[in-house]
Order: sequence, then structure tokens, then C-alpha cells
Amino acid sequence: MSILVVGSVAFDALQTPFGKIDRCIGGSATYFSVAASFFSPVDLVAVVGDDFTEQDASVFKGRNINLDGLQKVPGERTFFWSGEYGYDLNVAKTRDTQLNVFAGFKPKLNERQRSADVLFLANIDPDLQMDVLKQTKRPRLVALDTMNYWITSKKDALAKIFSEVDLIIINEAEVRQFMGDSNLVQAARAILSLGAKTLVIKRGEYGVIMITKDSIFAAPAYPLENVFDPTGAGDTFAGGLLGYLASRREITDRELRRAIVFGSVLASFTVEKFSLDRLREISLREIQERYQDFRALTHFDDAE
Ligand code: AMP
Repeated sequence: MSILVVGSVAFDALQTPFGKIDRCIGGSATYFSVAASFFSPVDLVAVVGDDFTEQDASVFKGRNINLDGLQKVPGERTFFWSGEYGYDLNVAKTRDTQLNVFAGFKPKLNERQRSADVLFLANIDPDLQMDVLKQTKRPRLVALDTMNYWITSKKDALAKIFSEVDLIIINEAEVRQFMGDSNLVQAARAILSLGAKTLVIKRGEYGVIMITKDSIFAAPAYPLENVFDPTGAGDTFAGGLLGYLASRREITDRELRRAIVFGSVLASFTVEKFSLDRLREISLREIQERYQDFRALTHFDDAE
């Protein structure tokens, strides 16, 4: 199945306790596309400014990523995000967000993009997410990610789109922030009551919890000795998850659980280096090997 993603393609400035970089490729749709393309073809819808060079675009080259929907606006600058982490790498502190080209972005999908089987509304303005959703024909699966920036600035628009998607992928702190409830399970159920079938809650180094109306599944994060930069872990996770799901014939609870583990595996590579540096090096074989390690990690009982 084909995947359509709309989200940010960005330049990031990052500081972690282990290093600092003033400008590197980032963006929610960038991490997502590269991760998902290991499993399924991806159509990317995003916008960049004329400061985005051929060399920057090389991150997408040689992969199963169609760039017809990557618009370049002359005279404008690419989305910019600056973030900082202390020793608690689960908490990103935003130092600066410059929407730049995204401020006036109104994509118009072509026929192929409108017919995508799986739609991922990556972290970006919820009004833009809605605009893209409305242009698609009925995708088999619609998933969405967001962040505190949009919960603070556009909560109503976000609540509206929450009610129109199948799967919400969101951070633990954002679930609490959105509902104003400190109990994660209660807050998650309240979000689900808006309409989505499945909520996947990202808990940084503590892993992931998936909650549906009648089941809960938990997976740890892959225990790494070297976590260098957590930026993009969430989007990479979503890319691995949806990329894997789109490669399966059916979307069952069992496949969703496997997809969560593939997402966690992909994310575990991303955090080993700055930007997409590690993701760009790996092969499907390394992904599969780490998936097998993950099985051993979480196995504790043989079925009777
Ligand atoms: P994450 O996977 O949550 O670590 O996402 C990191 C990426 O999100 C960075 O590469 C940023 O460029 C991008 N980002 C940060 N803030 C925003 C925002 N408000 N809208 C869209 N993308 C953002």
C-alpha cells in the first residue's frame, strides 16, 4: 500500500549534553519518510525555501520516496526549529520555531496523492492537516502526530482533527496536557472518546503504550548504551510503524503490535547520531537483526 505524508521538512539547530549543531536537516516528514520507505513507497507533501539545496535533498535520494509534492518557494526560508535537551533526553525544550514557508503553505494534491491507501498527518499546523485530509479519497488508515506547540496555540483545530482519524500517535506529556488530566490511562480514554480507534503513546526511553477501546499493549524502548540526540525519534517511530503496516495485507491487532516494535527499532537507530545521520547508514538487514534482538528482550514466557 502507498503512504502519503504531510509534515515539516526543516533545518534544525540542536543542543544535547553530548554535542551541538547549528544547522542540520530535520522535520517531521523527513524522518517519517526515510523510516517508512524501508518498507513501503512514500509520497511526501511539504514545502521548503530556496535555501534548501540539492545536497539537502539528497537525504531522500535512492529511496522509495516520491518528491512531486515537495514544493520549493523562491525568496522564502525553510521551516526552522531550534531545540535543546538536558540530561533528561525525554524532554525537548524549544528555543525557537520559525514557520517561514509553512506560514502560507496550501498544498494541492494530485490524483495519485489523493488516492493514497495510508495517510500520515505528521506534526504540523492542524488546519493544514485537515486541509490535506479533506483532499484525499477514503484512505484505509489515517494517522496523526502533533506536539505541545499546537496544543497550546490551536487546541480546537486539533480536537477537530482528532475526531477524524483512526490512529493518534502522541507523547505522554501531550496526552496529559491536552486533557488536563495527570492519569495517563484516563486521559487517553478521553482522547479516544473523541473518535479515533487507537492511541499510541510515546514515552521516550520508557517505550510505547498502545490503547484501544478494549486492549492495552506496552513495548519498552530498545536499551541503548549511546543515546546521542533524541530529535526525530517520534517521527521515525511513526514512519517505521506505518511503513511496516502499509506493507501488510491486513491491519490486525497482531500486525499493529509488530508495527510498534518496528517503529521502536527504527527510532533506536535515529537517536544514535545527530539528524538523520544514522538512519541514512542502515540497511533493512540491520533493522531485521535489531527486531530479533527486541523479541529476545521482551520474551518472558512460552505459550502453553
Ligand atoms: P520529534 O520526532 O518529535 O523529535 O520531532 C522533531 C522534528 O520536528 C524536528 O526535526 C523539527 O524540525 C520538527 N518540528 C519541531 N517543531 C515543529 C512544529 N511546531 N511543527 C512542525 N514540525 C516541528
